[in-house]
Amino acid sequence: MNEKGLTLVFTGNGKGKTTAALGMAFRAVGHGMKVCVVQFLKSPDSGYGEITMMNKTGIENHQAGAGCTWSVPAEDTRRTVKEAWRLAREKVMSDNYDMVVLDEVNNAVALPEPVGDKIIFPEDVVELIEKKPARLHLVLTGRSAHALVIDKADMVSEINCIKHHYNNGVPAKEGIEF
Ligand code: ATP
Ligand code: MG
Repeated sequence: MNEKGLTLVFTGNGKGKTTAALGMAFRAVGHGMKVCVVQFLKSPDSGYGEITMMNKTGIENHQAGAGCTWSVPAEDTRRTVKEAWRLAREKVMSDNYDMVVLDEVNNAVALPEPVGDKIIFPEDVVELIEKKPARLHLVLTGRSAHALVIDKADMVSEINCIKHHYNNGVPAKEGIEF
């Protein structure tokens, strides 16, 4: 008997969306659940500590991006976002997992034109939520979650930035940002 899987969204402009989703992924594997993480916009050579730990703890993970949208050619971003979305749909619909995390997918949907023009529509994400296997927990992260996605989700947390060390000139730090 399948229990109802949830759709959970972490959005907002404060720090903690990806780490919240990965915290939940680690919690789930602790119960023997099968988890897959697809990371949009992040490249395989990004050096994130969580990649090492996902590999150690048996969380299937894919960095399906080209890197920062402002530092790579728009064409690379477009190509990798398309491929990441194909991979994400394949993983979600496979019914091989108890939880799938689509990290930064909200950002990929919200990419400005012309970079993000007509790649992933909010309606595509809504359709995926509607068609996903009933038991699957689907976790969506990233700023600017679309209203249609928010409406469809079971849980939405908006993390607001009250302050961030970056604004005091502190650069990204090992163990904190990556
Ligand atoms: P984390 O990966 O630490 O959970 P996040 O997923 O909420 O953060 P993103 O919006 O994906 O953050 O942004 C990626 C990086 O930008 C993070 O490493 C984070 O430290 C930094 N960041 C997040 N929010 C802010 C902010 N309000 N001001 C400056 N930098 C930020
Ligand atoms: Mg993030």
